[in-house]
Amino acid sequence: MLAEEVHIAIGSNIGDSLTIVSEAIEHLRSLPKTDLQRHSSLYRTEAVSDIQQDDYINAAVLLTTTLEPMDLLLELQAIEQAFYRQRDTAVKWAPRTLDLDIILFGARIIDDSHLTIPHAEMQNRLFVLQPMFEISGDLYISGLGSLKYLVENAPKMMIKQIL
Ligand code: ATP
Ligand code: CA
Ligand code: CA
Repeated sequence: MLAEEVHIAIGSNIGDSLTIVSEAIEHLRSLPKTDLQRHSSLYRTEAVSDIQQDDYINAAVLLTTTLEPMDLLLELQAIEQAFYRQRDTAVKWAPRTLDLDIILFGARIIDDSHLTIPHAEMQNRLFVLQPMFEISGDLYISGLGSLKYLVENAPKMMIKQIL
């Protein structure tokens, strides 16, 4: 089976987020049927939320994998659980120890109850786009445009490359 390129966005804003994000990258490196190709620097970003919460640490990873999207999502959720992610269903975009989102999965378009790919909010989130741009600067996303265009046109927010 042909491996597909997958972009993952990582976020954390509870606990020692620098360590959590670094360790999450190592977990992604050891996923079955998957090779980690590149990962971005770590970025500090302000939380986009209705509730007051700490800044996030964000990063992006490029994998190649022969896993199916739903199997990859289950693997990502298992990694989140390893960091004791609590899901608070009452609060959307609540603070979390670790969030792993699939942003792009090859050129696939998926829209079912468990998975939306490309990630529905990617064009609105500089904290996703900027780290992705660092590792895949010449990417073109069908229906959305170039990653460069998306970075330039996303709503402005505080984002600082830190490590
Ligand atoms: P957002 O999706 O706006 O970034 P979130 O990451 O806080 O919000 P979660 O609580 O982590 O949301 O996930 C809710 C559900 O989103 C998951 O159970 C998963 O089934 C679904 N989901 C849909 N599309 C994706 C995707 N591309 N990557 C990861 N999860 C997704
Ligand atoms: Ca998310
Ligand atoms: Ca998520």
